[in-house]
Amino acid sequence: MNATERLQKRFDAVLMPNYGTPPVALARGEGRHVFDVDGRRYLDLIAGIAVSSLGHGHPALVKAVAEQTAALAHTSNLFLHEREVELAEKLVDLLGAPARVFLANSGTEANEAALKLVRRAAGAERTYYVSTVAGFHGRTSGALALTGKPAIREPFGPFGAEVRFVPHGDVAALRQAVTEECVAVFVEPVQGEAGVVPAAEGYLAAVRAVCDDTGAAFVLDEIQSGVGRTGRWFAHQAEGVRPDVLTLAKGLGGGLPIGACVGFGRYGTAFAKGDHGSTFGGNPVAAAAALAVITTIESDNLLDSVTELGDLLAAEIGAVDHPLLAGVRGAGLWRGVQLATPAAAHVQTRAAEAGFLVNAVTPDVVRLAPPLTVTREEILEFTGALPGILAAAARDAEEDQRR
Ligand SMILES: *Cc1c(COP(=O)(O)O)cnc(C)c1O
Repeated sequence: MNATERLQKRFDAVLMPNYGTPPVALARGEGRHVFDVDGRRYLDLIAGIAVSSLGHGHPALVKAVAEQTAALAHTSNLFLHEREVELAEKLVDLLGAPARVFLANSGTEANEAALKLVRRAAGAERTYYVSTVAGFHGRTSGALALTGKPAIREPFGPFGAEVRFVPHGDVAALRQAVTEECVAVFVEPVQGEAGVVPAAEGYLAAVRAVCDDTGAAFVLDEIQSGVGRTGRWFAHQAEGVRPDVLTLAKGLGGGLPIGACVGFGRYGTAFAKGDHGSTFGGNPVAAAAALAVITTIESDNLLDSVTELGDLLAAEIGAVDHPLLAGVRGAGLWRGVQLATPAAAHVQTRAAEAGFLVNAVTPDVVRLAPPLTVTREEILEFTGALPGILAAAARDAEEDQRR
């Protein structure tokens, strides 16, 4: 047994089986690379699901976290501290509109805050929510109620919130579903967990119009798409549309757990004192990490390089000629590689063998979300290896068929 297998065995004995057994056991990271417990090195093209936006061990993140931990690691919300204020100021500034922020510890908690916020703003007459088929908003009961993936949702119902689902991008279905009894519409600009699936252009503007017409709140989940991932600070800025409530997490903390629920205009002040809270939310260390992420994206002009390198990544993948490859979509450094057959798990395995971490997000889509600091050379290293990875995965898939 190697070190990975030994650790997997210990993992299986004491951790709940909800994740299955992860195939790779990581020990440390350095820049865009990670090393497993057996010393193998990988180019990280998934960044902990679009989280490690500055890669691993970035000096700005390390410094911010170390200094803040030494100065004051935790306050609770009984006391305020400057980092949380600075972070909220920064987010409001980047959003360019009057807004208020609630800080949480994860994406699902940001959406839970949004659920309560829009309920509070709507009053009791509005009774139901609208969300999208195949959308993902988190795993707690409230966020899961909004999640349109039957396999992960149905075993845990019934839910406290009534949610009606419409196909993502279908404006006519949305118009039908949203009435003056609807509390809020929850939507992602691009459905990440469904395989990085963008809505048709103009969809967010249509959601905005439907919400304006009916008085329902427009909640935009940018937990995966936000904070530079698409080459904009926030994906919705590409469409010039503003939601009423915006949720963020993943890339915001660069690896430290943090989430944010932003309310614009009257949604910024819909919570009264005592309406919501979190012991860890707005934690100084997580807030310092998020500030380091934002200031590094600014100082290193990462939004420009994300756009440029994301285009390069898509173009180089698009130029690969292999029957298993059916297309590539997404924006910036956030891409879904569509396969012709459900061979994504094989691609993930073969990529890891070749020294690249990618994610089989659905049976036939491979997700790429590298650190925003990835280089041109690293992208070309991967796309150069891709034909070989696809060929090996195709052979594995054929073998499955024969079995
Ligand atoms: C990851 C994700 C969530 C849930 O975030 P957690 O931090 O895992 O709780 C919610 N919405 C979207 C769009 C996500 O990608």
